[in-house]
Amino acid sequence: MESAIRDAIRNLVLPGTTLNALDLLEYIQVDATKAFLVFKLPDAFETVDKAWEQSIQQACQQVCDLPIMITFNRHKTEQKVASGINGVRHVIAVASGKGGVGKSSVCLNLALAAKNLGFSVGVLDADIYGPSLPTMTDLFEKPEATADKKIIPHLKFGVKLMSMGFMVPKDAAVIWRGLMVQSAIGQMLGDVLWDVDDKPLDVLFIDLPPGTGDAQLTIAQKSNLSGTVIVSTSQELALIDARRAIKMFEKVNIPILGIVDNMSHFDCPGCGLSSHLFPENGVLDASRIHNIPLLGQIPIDIAFRQAADAGTPFLLEYPRHPISLIFAQIAQQVADAVLGATKAVAHG
Ligand code: ADP
Repeated sequence: MESAIRDAIRNLVLPGTTLNALDLLEYIQVDATKAFLVFKLPDAFETVDKAWEQSIQQACQQVCDLPIMITFNRHKTEQKVASGINGVRHVIAVASGKGGVGKSSVCLNLALAAKNLGFSVGVLDADIYGPSLPTMTDLFEKPEATADKKIIPHLKFGVKLMSMGFMVPKDAAVIWRGLMVQSAIGQMLGDVLWDVDDKPLDVLFIDLPPGTGDAQLTIAQKSNLSGTVIVSTSQELALIDARRAIKMFEKVNIPILGIVDNMSHFDCPGCGLSSHLFPENGVLDASRIHNIPLLGQIPIDIAFRQAADAGTPFLLEYPRHPISLIFAQIAQQVADAVLGATKAVAHG
Protein backbone atom coordinates (compact mmCIF):
# COMPACT_ATOMS: atom_id res chain seq x y z
CA MET A 1 0.00 0.00 0.00
CA GLU A 2 2.79 2.43 0.91
CA SER A 3 4.52 1.89 -2.42
CA ALA A 4 1.22 2.39 -4.31
CA ILE A 5 0.79 5.72 -2.52
CA ARG A 6 4.37 6.70 -3.32
CA ASP A 7 3.76 5.93 -7.00
CA ALA A 8 0.49 7.87 -6.95
CA ILE A 9 2.09 11.10 -5.74
CA ARG A 10 5.28 10.82 -7.79
CA ASN A 11 4.13 13.20 -10.51
CA LEU A 12 2.55 15.92 -8.39
CA VAL A 13 4.97 18.80 -8.78
CA LEU A 14 4.87 21.51 -6.11
CA PRO A 15 4.05 24.73 -8.03
CA GLY A 16 7.03 27.07 -8.26
CA THR A 17 9.56 24.26 -7.73
CA THR A 18 10.97 21.27 -9.55
CA LEU A 19 10.14 19.05 -6.57
CA ASN A 20 7.35 16.52 -6.61
CA ALA A 21 5.34 15.27 -3.64
CA LEU A 22 7.42 12.11 -3.39
CA ASP A 23 10.61 14.18 -3.08
CA LEU A 24 9.03 15.96 -0.12
CA LEU A 25 7.56 12.90 1.57
CA GLU A 26 9.26 12.61 4.93
CA TYR A 27 7.26 9.86 6.56
CA ILE A 28 4.47 7.51 5.63
CA GLN A 29 2.57 5.07 7.76
CA VAL A 30 -0.40 2.99 6.72
CA ASP A 31 -2.25 1.00 9.33
CA ALA A 32 -5.68 -0.58 9.56
CA THR A 33 -7.49 2.73 10.02
CA LYS A 34 -5.64 5.36 8.03
CA ALA A 35 -2.76 6.44 5.84
CA PHE A 36 -0.63 9.11 7.49
CA LEU A 37 1.75 11.19 5.39
CA VAL A 38 4.20 13.82 6.59
CA PHE A 39 5.74 16.14 4.01
CA LYS A 40 8.72 18.40 4.49
CA LEU A 41 8.30 21.88 3.05
CA PRO A 42 11.21 23.52 1.24
CA ASP A 43 12.83 26.41 3.14
CA ALA A 44 11.06 29.18 1.23
CA PHE A 45 7.58 27.77 1.93
CA GLU A 46 5.49 28.64 4.99
CA THR A 47 2.52 26.60 3.80
CA VAL A 48 1.29 24.98 0.62
CA ASP A 49 -1.61 25.79 -1.59
CA LYS A 50 -4.82 24.01 -0.49
CA ALA A 51 -5.39 22.89 -4.08
CA TRP A 52 -2.04 21.08 -4.11
CA GLU A 53 -2.84 19.40 -0.80
CA GLN A 54 -6.16 18.30 -2.28
CA SER A 55 -4.45 16.88 -5.34
CA ILE A 56 -2.32 14.74 -3.00
CA GLN A 57 -5.48 13.63 -1.15
CA GLN A 58 -7.15 12.65 -4.41
CA ALA A 59 -4.11 10.83 -5.77
CA CYS A 60 -3.87 8.83 -2.53
CA GLN A 61 -7.59 8.05 -2.52
CA GLN A 62 -7.29 6.52 -5.98
CA VAL A 63 -5.06 3.78 -4.59
CA CYS A 64 -6.15 3.64 -0.93
CA ASP A 65 -9.64 3.37 0.60
CA LEU A 66 -8.57 4.53 4.05
CA PRO A 67 -8.85 8.08 5.40
CA ILE A 68 -5.76 10.04 4.34
CA MET A 69 -4.11 12.31 6.92
CA ILE A 70 -1.60 14.80 5.61
CA THR A 71 0.77 17.03 7.58
CA PHE A 72 3.29 19.54 6.26
CA ASN A 73 6.44 20.24 8.23
CA ARG A 74 8.62 23.27 7.77
CA HIS A 75 12.19 22.30 7.00
CA LYS A 76 14.09 22.29 10.26
CA THR A 77 17.81 22.44 9.83
CA GLU A 78 18.70 23.97 13.18
CA GLN A 79 18.69 22.16 16.48
CA LYS A 80 15.47 22.80 18.35
CA VAL A 81 16.00 24.60 21.61
CA ALA A 82 12.89 26.49 22.63
CA SER A 83 10.12 24.22 23.82
CA GLY A 84 6.69 24.79 22.35
CA ILE A 85 5.09 24.63 25.80
CA ASN A 86 4.59 27.63 28.07
CA GLY A 87 6.53 27.51 31.31
CA VAL A 88 8.82 24.72 30.10
CA ARG A 89 12.42 25.02 28.90
CA HIS A 90 12.94 21.56 27.48
CA VAL A 91 10.61 18.74 26.59
CA ILE A 92 11.85 15.17 26.50
CA ALA A 93 9.59 12.37 25.33
CA VAL A 94 9.88 8.88 26.75
CA ALA A 95 8.69 6.49 24.09
CA SER A 96 8.55 2.77 23.54
CA GLY A 97 6.54 1.71 20.57
CA LYS A 98 5.27 -1.31 22.49
CA GLY A 99 3.15 -1.09 25.65
CA GLY A 100 4.08 -2.88 28.85
CA VAL A 101 7.84 -2.58 28.52
CA GLY A 102 8.16 -0.18 31.47
CA LYS A 103 8.07 3.17 29.67
CA SER A 104 5.91 4.88 32.32
CA SER A 105 7.96 3.51 35.20
CA VAL A 106 11.17 4.63 33.54
CA CYS A 107 9.69 8.05 32.77
CA LEU A 108 8.69 8.77 36.37
CA ASN A 109 11.92 7.49 37.91
CA LEU A 110 14.00 9.30 35.31
CA ALA A 111 12.15 12.52 36.16
CA LEU A 112 12.93 12.02 39.85
CA ALA A 113 16.56 11.30 39.07
CA ALA A 114 16.71 14.54 37.04
CA LYS A 115 15.16 16.38 39.97
CA ASN A 116 17.88 14.94 42.22
CA LEU A 117 20.42 16.51 39.86
CA GLY A 118 18.92 19.91 40.69
CA PHE A 119 16.53 20.45 37.81
CA SER A 120 12.93 21.55 38.16
CA VAL A 121 10.95 18.78 36.60
CA GLY A 122 7.46 17.82 35.48
CA VAL A 123 5.86 14.69 34.09
CA LEU A 124 3.04 14.70 31.59
CA ASP A 125 1.43 11.32 31.17
CA ALA A 126 0.13 11.61 27.62
CA ASP A 127 -1.05 8.01 27.48
CA ILE A 128 -4.71 8.91 27.29
CA TYR A 129 -5.89 5.34 26.79
CA GLY A 130 -3.95 3.75 29.65
CA PRO A 131 -2.66 6.44 32.00
CA SER A 132 -0.51 4.94 34.75
CA LEU A 133 0.73 8.07 36.51
CA PRO A 134 -2.25 8.18 38.94
CA THR A 135 -1.50 4.66 40.24
CA MET A 136 2.27 5.15 40.25
CA THR A 137 1.90 8.33 42.32
CA ASP A 138 -1.25 7.37 44.26
CA LEU A 139 -2.96 10.54 43.04
CA PHE A 140 -6.45 10.42 41.68
CA GLU A 141 -7.86 13.89 42.31
CA LYS A 142 -8.87 16.18 39.53
CA PRO A 143 -6.44 19.09 39.31
CA GLU A 144 -7.66 22.62 40.03
CA ALA A 145 -8.39 24.90 37.12
CA THR A 146 -8.28 28.68 36.82
CA ALA A 147 -11.24 30.83 35.71
CA ASP A 148 -9.92 30.77 32.15
CA LYS A 149 -9.80 26.96 32.26
CA LYS A 150 -6.05 26.56 32.61
CA ILE A 151 -5.10 23.46 34.56
CA ILE A 152 -2.88 23.65 37.64
CA PRO A 153 -0.66 20.55 37.69
CA HIS A 154 -0.41 18.46 40.84
CA LEU A 155 2.80 18.75 42.80
CA LYS A 156 4.03 15.61 44.54
CA PHE A 157 7.51 14.30 45.37
CA GLY A 158 8.78 17.72 44.24
CA VAL A 159 7.62 17.03 40.68
CA LYS A 160 4.74 18.67 38.82
CA LEU A 161 2.40 16.04 37.45
CA MET A 162 -0.37 15.92 34.90
CA SER A 163 -2.23 12.96 33.47
CA MET A 164 -5.48 12.40 31.65
CA GLY A 165 -6.04 9.84 34.39
CA PHE A 166 -6.54 12.76 36.82
CA MET A 167 -9.42 14.03 34.69
CA VAL A 168 -11.50 10.87 34.32
CA PRO A 169 -12.81 8.41 36.95
CA LYS A 170 -10.32 5.65 37.83
CA ASP A 171 -11.91 2.76 35.99
CA ALA A 172 -13.62 4.68 33.20
CA ALA A 173 -12.92 3.40 29.73
CA VAL A 174 -11.74 6.16 27.46
CA ILE A 175 -13.33 5.59 24.10
CA TRP A 176 -11.95 8.39 22.03
CA ARG A 177 -11.07 8.63 18.43
CA GLY A 178 -9.18 10.81 16.02
CA LEU A 179 -10.04 14.42 16.67
CA MET A 180 -11.00 13.87 20.32
CA VAL A 181 -7.61 12.35 20.96
CA GLN A 182 -5.89 15.23 19.21
CA SER A 183 -7.89 17.78 21.16
CA ALA A 184 -7.23 16.07 24.51
CA ILE A 185 -3.54 16.02 23.71
CA GLY A 186 -3.68 19.63 22.55
CA GLN A 187 -5.27 20.60 25.86
CA MET A 188 -2.66 18.79 27.89
CA LEU A 189 0.13 20.42 25.91
CA GLY A 190 -1.35 23.90 25.80
CA ASP A 191 -3.49 24.41 28.89
CA VAL A 192 -1.37 23.32 31.84
CA LEU A 193 0.21 26.06 33.94
CA TRP A 194 3.58 24.43 34.52
CA ASP A 195 4.98 27.72 35.88
CA VAL A 196 1.96 28.48 38.05
CA ASP A 197 4.36 29.17 40.97
CA ASP A 198 6.50 31.40 38.71
CA LYS A 199 9.09 28.64 38.55
CA PRO A 200 9.35 27.35 34.99
CA LEU A 201 10.27 23.72 34.48
CA ASP A 202 13.78 22.97 33.27
CA VAL A 203 12.41 19.82 31.74
CA LEU A 204 9.06 18.25 31.15
CA PHE A 205 9.18 14.50 30.58
CA ILE A 206 6.30 13.34 28.42
CA ASP A 207 5.27 9.73 28.82
CA LEU A 208 4.14 9.07 25.25
CA PRO A 209 1.39 6.61 24.47
CA PRO A 210 2.77 3.39 22.98
CA GLY A 211 2.82 3.23 19.20
CA THR A 212 3.91 5.41 16.33
CA GLY A 213 0.64 6.92 15.16
CA ASP A 214 -0.76 10.41 14.90
CA ALA A 215 -1.01 10.92 18.69
CA GLN A 216 2.76 10.48 18.98
CA LEU A 217 3.45 12.64 15.95
CA THR A 218 1.10 15.38 17.18
CA ILE A 219 2.94 15.53 20.49
CA ALA A 220 6.33 15.42 18.83
CA GLN A 221 5.46 18.28 16.54
CA LYS A 222 3.44 20.48 18.91
CA SER A 223 5.88 20.32 21.75
CA ASN A 224 9.14 20.93 19.92
CA LEU A 225 10.93 18.09 21.62
CA SER A 226 14.53 18.56 22.69
CA GLY A 227 14.97 14.83 22.47
CA THR A 228 13.51 11.45 23.13
CA VAL A 229 14.44 8.47 25.26
CA ILE A 230 13.39 5.06 23.94
CA VAL A 231 12.52 2.28 26.37
CA SER A 232 12.46 -1.36 25.29
CA THR A 233 12.98 -4.84 26.54
CA SER A 234 15.25 -7.18 24.59
CA GLN A 235 12.33 -9.26 23.39
CA GLU A 236 12.11 -9.19 19.60
CA LEU A 237 8.40 -8.27 19.77
CA ALA A 238 9.24 -5.14 21.75
CA LEU A 239 12.28 -4.33 19.63
CA ILE A 240 10.27 -4.37 16.41
CA ASP A 241 8.14 -1.53 17.77
CA ALA A 242 11.11 0.25 19.33
CA ARG A 243 12.80 0.30 15.90
CA ARG A 244 9.62 1.75 14.43
CA ALA A 245 9.66 4.50 17.06
CA ILE A 246 13.34 5.21 16.36
CA LYS A 247 12.58 5.50 12.66
CA MET A 248 9.67 7.85 13.30
CA PHE A 249 11.76 10.22 15.43
CA GLU A 250 14.59 10.16 12.91
CA LYS A 251 12.17 11.08 10.13
CA VAL A 252 10.87 14.10 12.01
CA ASN A 253 14.39 15.19 13.04
CA ILE A 254 14.01 14.72 16.78
CA PRO A 255 17.28 13.80 18.50
CA ILE A 256 17.22 10.34 20.03
CA LEU A 257 19.11 10.67 23.29
CA GLY A 258 19.41 6.93 23.75
CA ILE A 259 17.68 3.70 24.60
CA VAL A 260 17.01 2.12 27.99
CA ASP A 261 17.15 -1.67 28.26
CA ASN A 262 14.41 -2.44 30.80
CA MET A 263 13.94 -5.83 32.46
CA SER A 264 17.38 -6.69 31.10
CA HIS A 265 17.93 -9.54 33.56
CA PHE A 266 16.68 -11.01 36.82
CA ASP A 267 18.83 -11.47 39.91
CA CYS A 268 17.02 -14.16 41.88
CA PRO A 269 16.79 -13.11 45.54
CA GLY A 270 16.36 -16.81 46.51
CA CYS A 271 19.20 -18.60 44.75
CA GLY A 272 21.37 -15.64 43.75
CA LEU A 273 21.48 -16.66 40.09
CA SER A 274 21.20 -14.03 37.38
CA SER A 275 19.08 -15.00 34.38
CA HIS A 276 17.79 -13.40 31.19
CA LEU A 277 14.06 -13.57 30.65
CA PHE A 278 14.45 -11.92 27.27
CA PRO A 279 17.25 -12.61 24.80
CA GLU A 280 20.56 -11.22 26.01
CA ASN A 281 21.87 -8.08 24.27
CA GLY A 282 18.79 -7.38 22.11
CA VAL A 283 18.63 -3.71 23.12
CA LEU A 284 22.42 -3.41 23.08
CA ASP A 285 22.51 -4.67 19.49
CA ALA A 286 19.70 -2.31 18.49
CA SER A 287 21.60 0.61 20.01
CA ARG A 288 24.67 -0.30 17.95
CA ILE A 289 22.73 -0.79 14.72
CA HIS A 290 20.95 2.55 15.07
CA ASN A 291 23.99 4.27 16.47
CA ILE A 292 22.24 5.57 19.57
CA PRO A 293 23.61 5.37 23.11
CA LEU A 294 22.56 2.57 25.43
CA LEU A 295 21.64 4.72 28.43
CA GLY A 296 21.31 1.95 31.00
CA GLN A 297 20.19 -1.59 31.76
CA ILE A 298 17.54 -1.97 34.43
CA PRO A 299 16.92 -5.45 35.84
CA ILE A 300 13.47 -6.83 36.45
CA ASP A 301 12.97 -6.42 40.15
CA ILE A 302 10.15 -7.28 42.52
CA ALA A 303 10.54 -4.17 44.67
CA PHE A 304 10.49 -2.00 41.55
CA ARG A 305 7.11 -3.38 40.55
CA GLN A 306 5.80 -3.20 44.13
CA ALA A 307 6.78 0.45 44.44
CA ALA A 308 4.88 1.30 41.24
CA ASP A 309 1.76 -0.49 42.45
CA ALA A 310 2.00 1.13 45.88
CA GLY A 311 2.16 4.63 44.43
CA THR A 312 5.60 5.48 45.80
CA PRO A 313 8.29 5.90 43.15
CA PHE A 314 11.10 3.39 43.55
CA LEU A 315 13.74 6.10 43.52
CA LEU A 316 12.21 7.71 46.62
CA GLU A 317 11.67 4.45 48.43
CA TYR A 318 15.17 3.08 47.73
CA PRO A 319 17.42 6.05 46.92
CA ARG A 320 20.65 4.05 47.30
CA HIS A 321 19.55 0.89 45.52
CA PRO A 322 21.68 -0.05 42.48
CA ILE A 323 18.64 0.53 40.24
CA SER A 324 18.33 4.09 41.57
CA LEU A 325 22.00 4.63 40.77
CA ILE A 326 21.37 3.43 37.21
CA PHE A 327 18.59 6.01 36.93
CA ALA A 328 20.96 8.68 38.22
CA GLN A 329 23.40 7.77 35.44
CA ILE A 330 20.66 7.83 32.81
CA ALA A 331 19.50 11.24 34.03
CA GLN A 332 23.06 12.53 33.92
CA GLN A 333 23.48 11.44 30.30
CA VAL A 334 20.17 13.03 29.34
CA ALA A 335 21.17 16.21 31.17
CA ASP A 336 24.55 16.29 29.45
CA ALA A 337 22.91 15.87 26.05
CA VAL A 338 20.11 18.38 26.44
CA LEU A 339 20.16 20.32 29.65
CA GLY A 340 23.75 21.46 30.07
CA ALA A 341 22.97 25.10 29.40
CA THR A 342 19.92 25.01 31.65
CA LYS A 343 21.91 23.60 34.52
CA ALA A 344 24.28 26.53 34.35
CA VAL A 345 21.25 28.81 34.72
CA ALA A 346 19.72 26.71 37.50
CA HIS A 347 22.88 26.79 39.56
CA GLY A 348 23.78 30.34 38.75
P1 ADP B 1 4.48 0.85 29.88
O1 ADP B 1 4.43 2.27 30.26
O2 ADP B 1 5.54 0.53 28.88
O3 ADP B 1 3.15 0.25 29.51
P2 ADP B 1 4.81 0.30 32.72
O4 ADP B 1 5.85 1.25 33.20
O5 ADP B 1 3.38 0.60 33.03
O6 ADP B 1 4.97 0.01 31.16
O7 ADP B 1 5.22 -1.14 33.26
C1 ADP B 1 4.44 -2.28 33.04
C2 ADP B 1 4.48 -3.15 34.28
O8 ADP B 1 5.80 -3.66 34.45
C3 ADP B 1 4.14 -2.39 35.53
O9 ADP B 1 3.44 -3.26 36.40
C4 ADP B 1 5.51 -2.05 36.14
O10 ADP B 1 5.47 -1.91 37.54
C5 ADP B 1 6.31 -3.26 35.72
N1 ADP B 1 7.74 -2.98 35.51
C6 ADP B 1 8.29 -2.10 34.65
N2 ADP B 1 9.63 -2.16 34.71
C7 ADP B 1 9.95 -3.10 35.63
C8 ADP B 1 11.16 -3.62 36.16
N3 ADP B 1 12.35 -3.20 35.74
N4 ADP B 1 11.08 -4.57 37.14
C9 ADP B 1 9.87 -5.01 37.57
N5 ADP B 1 8.71 -4.58 37.12
C10 ADP B 1 8.73 -3.63 36.14
